[in-house]
Amino acid sequence: MEQSAFGVIGLGVMGASLSLNIADKGFSLSVYNRLTPGEEHMVSQLLERKTDKMHIQGFTDLEAFIDSLQRPRKLLIMIKAGKALDQVINIVLPSLSEGDIIIDGGNSHYSDTKRRCQNLLEHKIHFLGCGVSGGEEGALKGPSLMVGGNAEAYQQISEIFESIAGKDKHDKPCCAYVSKDGSGHFVKMVHNGIEYAEMQLLAELYALLRNHYSNDKIAEIFKAWNATDLGSYLLEITTDILTKKEGEDYLLDKILDKAGNKGTGSWSSKAALDFGSVNSMMASSVFARYISSYKAKRVELSKYVVREKQHNTSSIKDLENAYRFARIINHYQGFDLIKKGAQENDWDIDCSEIARIWTNGCIIRSHFMEASTHYLKADKTYLDHEVFINLLQESEGQIKVLLKNALDSNVSVNTFYNAYDYWLSLSTANLPANLIQAQRDYFGAHTYQKIGSSEDQYFHTNWIE
Ligand code: NDP
Repeated sequence: MEQSAFGVIGLGVMGASLSLNIADKGFSLSVYNRLTPGEEHMVSQLLERKTDKMHIQGFTDLEAFIDSLQRPRKLLIMIKAGKALDQVINIVLPSLSEGDIIIDGGNSHYSDTKRRCQNLLEHKIHFLGCGVSGGEEGALKGPSLMVGGNAEAYQQISEIFESIAGKDKHDKPCCAYVSKDGSGHFVKMVHNGIEYAEMQLLAELYALLRNHYSNDKIAEIFKAWNATDLGSYLLEITTDILTKKEGEDYLLDKILDKAGNKGTGSWSSKAALDFGSVNSMMASSVFARYISSYKAKRVELSKYVVREKQHNTSSIKDLENAYRFARIINHYQGFDLIKKGAQENDWDIDCSEIARIWTNGCIIRSHFMEASTHYLKADKTYLDHEVFINLLQESEGQIKVLLKNALDSNVSVNTFYNAYDYWLSLSTANLPANLIQAQRDYFGAHTYQKIGSSEDQYFHTNWIE
């Protein structure tokens, strides 16, 4: 039996799609899925989907699967993150040899990836943590791949990964070596955080617009925006969603307003808090999902709380500019978190390259992301460019109109509010933090600095004397 160039463990939605993508690019492949009641057909189902030109060997016996791989073995694990992954690593480890490479393509927390990199190095096994974005279709046709870990190990898998990845507009693969240990999973986590806020902004716009317009009309507005610099995958799918019918009715109108989550938005927000990066839009989007899940309480309270409603409408142009404003801030906050994460973890991350691999294959691909590859070059941020400072300044009035109208109409637009508030604070020379410092010094002798004194001079006052 010929040995395969690559192996995949876990043939769920993502594992199966990535397997078919790899085999389609001409790499010989071995695949494995455990035999569990009701899931016995996972391997045979995948083999049924293979075309004649694909070389795939299927296994339900782990030893035979590992024996079927060329050395150094390269195996991708596509299973649920967390304990299950540690279990699978522990099971395969005794059968592996020095120099073999394990790649985790699941949504693992970056700190777990750091730990696994270290542990496996003791066994002389390389461990790569790969963030995969694009969902089932992306995995099949060209995902965005963010790989962290040992650079030499990446070189050994780069041909396969770069072949299966989506392509940017210059036909370069949307796949990159990010930096060492957990950096790939960290960047994927921030991707998801940015995605949360991008989705929530669209939900808030929909909440405002549905007071005045039909789903078809809102789709028309979004479609027009999608043809401008605001164009994005999420805006595009939102227009499809708005107009989808089930029978005579819009499907969207039948969907329960309780949003789920798998944790990556809250992980990003927690990391932002840990590293001192202000990611208020990401965090407010997570909270918006949480509060949506308090459905019973919301329904109960809504029966008692009567609010007066003024139907002020923002012009479509106001909304468009407010949306542009908020997206700039969201991306600024997201890339700030990547920079802070890199500093904290001693990773060398090129944000322009991250933007580039996010221009295709992933959920937050957009025209703005394409422009970002240019603006984030040489370690710059959006706010190092006059064009963005001017743009934010010029559309301040329009986001304020949106916020005022949302208040009058009793529509929650917390993520838009956080975009505005962030920009407001960031461009305000004097914040009231002098009072906070005085309070801290009063009750805790935490000291304070004085205007005009040197940076290293701290003062303490006995406030009740
Ligand atoms: P699925 O639930 O579709 O598949 C999970 C796979 O993991 C199945 O093959 C399952 O085997 C296997 N598995 C689960 N627990 C164990 C275990 N203890 N031992 C061995 N095998 C196990 O998941 P997805 O394919 O959607 O996701 C896989 C990973 O990719 C997850 O970490 C997910 O977060 C991540 N991801 C998912 C994306 C998506 O859009 N779905 C996008 C990007 C990343 P069995 O069939 O026997 O249960």
